[in-house]
Amino acid sequence: LQTVFKNARATQDPRRREAWVLAQLQSVYAWRGSLVDQLIERYVIPGLNVGHAPGRDALLREARARFDRQVEFAQAHRVREPGMSKVKGGDAFAAFMDREYGIPVTQEVLDGAWADVERAIDTLYKSFQDLRALIRAASSRIAGRPLQFDFAGVRVLAVPDLLLFFRAAPPVIVDWKVHTSGTHDARPQLATYALALGNAKPHRDFPPSWNQWEAGDLRLIEAQLLVDRSREYRIDDEDLTGVEDTIARSAWAMRATLGEGTPPDPFDLPHAHFGEACARCPFRGLCWRPPDEAA
Ligand code: SF4
Repeated sequence: LQTVFKNARATQDPRRREAWVLAQLQSVYAWRGSLVDQLIERYVIPGLNVGHAPGRDALLREARARFDRQVEFAQAHRVREPGMSKVKGGDAFAAFMDREYGIPVTQEVLDGAWADVERAIDTLYKSFQDLRALIRAASSRIAGRPLQFDFAGVRVLAVPDLLLFFRAAPPVIVDWKVHTSGTHDARPQLATYALALGNAKPHRDFPPSWNQWEAGDLRLIEAQLLVDRSREYRIDDEDLTGVEDTIARSAWAMRATLGEGTPPDPFDLPHAHFGEACARCPFRGLCWRPPDEAA
């Protein structure tokens, strides 16, 4: 449903439009993290690239304006307007999963989300001096760029938050985290980005010498913006083999489920093994519908 079936402009099969709508839904927790990512990707890094990085107060003003626009859009559940798309919604586009499933998103929840956005921006400006110096020193900074490569018969897409290239030092990959707890292990995720950087077709704005380095040379940084902590990882062959194994196993499982030839209707595929996965899944409104209503 997420990768193949959804289609914002589908007219023949209304389930495909419905799958697109549901694919846009986020928890408020995930949304406030993606808002911070957007601010860094669309304001801080482009500003640095032209020598006018916004200061903390300017970024907070932009954050508040964007936060309010997106809350208004999401609370009105405008994702359900006929013909709505991400392009049409622009900077205001946001969709809350609770809103779709009849759970009110209260002012208290929104106030908590704003407090987290504010704290993340404060941490970015008041801490992480070494990381900020590293970002400034880079000869090229590229935020939110998809890296795509083929492996084990599937197309793999990775989107690192920030790539930094240097004239005479290995690239750095930064992943921003807006998690309440800083215990999440980002190593496999960052190792996947390193594998992707080594295998993806380079973008035109990658510097000419970008691929002279081995994956083990890369600096991989997890920057926890809520708990004010950063961790640096260096990966080795074991990490890369682990990532390759995971991708190969997922590819095998997908092929075993889909079979050969014409893909089956997604609604004929087996359901998740664990009920908890469904409880958090944005697609449950479509997936759990009786077959005669889903069509
Ligand atoms: S089976 Fe559950 S987890 Fe899988 S798509 Fe349906 S609702 Fe989501």
